[in-house]
Amino acid sequence: MPKEVVDHDDPTTPAERLEVKDSVQRKLFMLSGNECAWPDCRQVLVPEEGGWFGQIAHIRAAERNGPRFDKAMTNNQRRGFDNLVLLCGKHHRLIDDPERQHQYSREDLEKIKIRHETRFARALDDLSRDEEQYLDGTTANTVVHCSTLLGLYGDFLDEEQRLGEIERFNRIADHLATATLAARQLLCSVVKANSRIGVAEAARRNGGTKRQVYDLVDELRRLHLAEIDPTPWDELGPDDARERIQTTDGARNNPVFEGIPFWNMHEMGAPVDYDAVIVQLDFSVLD
Ligand SMILES: [Zn+2]
Repeated sequence: MPKEVVDHDDPTTPAERLEVKDSVQRKLFMLSGNECAWPDCRQVLVPEEGGWFGQIAHIRAAERNGPRFDKAMTNNQRRGFDNLVLLCGKHHRLIDDPERQHQYSREDLEKIKIRHETRFARALDDLSRDEEQYLDGTTANTVVHCSTLLGLYGDFLDEEQRLGEIERFNRIADHLATATLAARQLLCSVVKANSRIGVAEAARRNGGTKRQVYDLVDELRRLHLAEIDPTPWDELGPDDARERIQTTDGARNNPVFEGIPFWNMHEMGAPVDYDAVIVQLDFSVLD
């Protein structure tokens, strides 16, 4: 039996304390102005002489029975930026103190957080610019073009057709490189499932949540690569998944694919390493 994937975006998943992401920690610190968020507390979080006095406090607790625990939240929301505030040790202990926590409501703490962080809004602008550059870096994909396509076509094509196909395939390679790695991994699962796969099954194979899969499908749809199957529910067969992802076919005048199927290369006879082609963008495996 496959191990069941725990969905931390599902509010019915039991509460579990998850580590705060690095990007969220950075954002919290950038917005703190290096000071405890408590009104009029001037405790510096990272003094010049070294050390670290900041503590990440949960506005609504990470675990059941914790202060201000809210069972309607998901685990990912509990560790999200909006639910966290950077305090000094003294004020963190104060708001979580079993005797006194009831004096500090969720609303009070959110107000304290927002008032403090707004003062450092300019720092946030700078940070989001950094984050964008970081994202650009992770989507910089290296493409290896094909040069003969003999592995795929053998001597089936005449020279002119073959050169035309090489050009087309390399255009497709460059187009695939505009998708993120995660989106290409999803696309590859769809192709390997004969161009149609249920959303839940895709989430299971890619180790993500359904919501993440929907976001990736949205990216693939904008790039004319895949979409949610628009067939109405009552026209689906009894065994079909209700929410399915399908590759876009050539019939939609896609300028990149030029109307000729690309996803069923394996039907031409030779086995195709779709992971190499779609995920690693190495089109030379088709030579
Ligand atoms: Zn403080």
